[in-house]
Amino acid sequence: MTNNPDLAFQVKAQEEIKRNGKEPVLGGQLRTKAAWVDESLCIGCTYCSCVATNTFVMEPIFGRARAVRQDGDSSRVIQEAIDTCPVNCIDWVKFEDLDDFRAQLEAKSIRPLGLPPLM
Ligand code: SF4
Repeated sequence: MTNNPDLAFQVKAQEEIKRNGKEPVLGGQLRTKAAWVDESLCIGCTYCSCVATNTFVMEPIFGRARAVRQDGDSSRVIQEAIDTCPVNCIDWVKFEDLDDFRAQLEAKSIRPLGLPPLM
């Protein structure tokens, strides 16, 4: 061990972190997947947001559910929310694939619930 105070300015504060899908943001070392709502299929029943209250919220503009965080509820509670969905539009997906799913969803034309279909 050295007593050189200049080392504090030379050593990296943290090692670079590489994502592997097992970070605490996913609920700990045992969860390697993330909850994903296909909002284009959601009918806005609110069931999932009533069960896994820290994971799913109802998006106010389109009135559809969205998974807003992955570490808010246990896997068991999230699975219970998934099981309540009447149209099966919530899935477990790989954490690394979330950005691709978001991009696919943004490419779709989604209308706010409660409005008549386009003619
Ligand atoms: Fe949408 Fe399914 Fe949640 Fe109902 S349970 S709000 S249909 S995602």
